Amino acid sequence: MPQTYRAMTAIEIHGKTFTEYIPDEAIQDRIEALADELDLEYKDKNPVFLGILKGVFVFLADLIRACPFENQTTFSKVSSYKGTQSTGELTFSLEPDIDLSGRHVIIVEDIVDSGLTLSRLIPKIQEYKPASIAVISLLFKPESLRYPIQLDYTGFEIGSDFVVGYGLDYDQCGRELRSIYKIVEDE
Ligand code: 5GP
Repeated sequence: MPQTYRAMTAIEIHGKTFTEYIPDEAIQDRIEALADELDLEYKDKNPVFLGILKGVFVFLADLIRACPFENQTTFSKVSSYKGTQSTGELTFSLEPDIDLSGRHVIIVEDIVDSGLTLSRLIPKIQEYKPASIAVISLLFKPESLRYPIQLDYTGFEIGSDFVVGYGLDYDQCGRELRSIYKIVEDE
């Protein structure tokens, strides 16, 4: 990451300390670059951005406005839990409200950790028979990856530490932060 951004700051959420990790200026610069990359592939294709709720809404809002081509947005919400138990099965709790058949679909994630969500989601999206599927994630934790996934565009590769901000929460707090913050582990 460029070193020209302003000095790091620390915050506290629910008694945990987080330090600034990716400043908002760096996020916006990276989104501009991603939009240019997407333009090479999707200009004149009117792709559908499929945001996976809910942490993605901030990234998706900035991404679609940075893209210099026509595009559409829909959302899905997926869950592998029933009550407090993981079923291992991924269920849609919100179906996409745009017909994806024959469309160029770009699945948008805020963060890929183990890859479980995407590894289960991609076959489900294929059932809609889209013209193509690509995946973009703002953050990717390569050391945590446990499931094979296809990740076509990545904002930042990061370590395995827990992060908040820019849509990502810690127990529903911190989504409104403009920058991304990394947890400071207790010593
Ligand atoms: P995966 O299915 O790839 O293991 O996990 C993806 C989901 O885990 C993300 O959509 C997000 O909800 C959650 N997650 C993974 N790592 C983090 C993190 O560092 N911070 C936050 N806030 N959520 C995370």
